[in-house]
Amino acid sequence: MFIELTDHLRCPAEHEEAFLVLLPDVVEGRCVRSGTLGCPICDRRFTIAEGVLHMRDAPAPPLAATALSADALTSLVGLGGPGGYLVLVGPPAASWRDVAELAPGVALVAVNPPDEVRDGGGVSVVRARRLPLKTSSMRGVVLGQPFGTDPHWVREGARVVLPGLRVVGEGADPAPALIQLMASADGVWVGSPPR
Ligand SMILES: [Zn+2]
Repeated sequence: MFIELTDHLRCPAEHEEAFLVLLPDVVEGRCVRSGTLGCPICDRRFTIAEGVLHMRDAPAPPLAATALSADALTSLVGLGGPGGYLVLVGPPAASWRDVAELAPGVALVAVNPPDEVRDGGGVSVVRARRLPLKTSSMRGVVLGQPFGTDPHWVREGARVVLPGLRVVGEGADPAPALIQLMASADGVWVGSPPR
């Protein structure tokens, strides 16, 4: 996990949004390889092991494939230039190396990626039952299957993206209350949270 990502993390518990305190054990360069994150409000502790941040009750790693190529998801999410973070949820995170080449200078966060995605070398891996990220903090979110069809995850994507920026999903179109659609075709949609 990138050490700087700590600034954008929140406790996943249902209380007011709170920062987490990092107690690193092993840090290599800018990556935390092992350690603990603690919530000062509810006192929950979360473990970082082999670089992966483990929140509780994460779904099993997805087995579904993705129809979204790195090219397609990068152009749909519409990143214009370096800086900030792009969140890849589920199967699309498998192509993070290609996304990193297409979006230089954008840090990648893989949430609940396929099992073979390992933390490090340009991607921070998180396993969680929601996006443990601060509201309005990310430059884009890509939701693969089954997350792109699940209103809980669509709501989370809409919550964490910066105002006016995009969420891309694989699956049925989300409700207008969650996402204002810009386009939808062949089971892939793109839009922004309604203002
Ligand atoms: Zn908490």
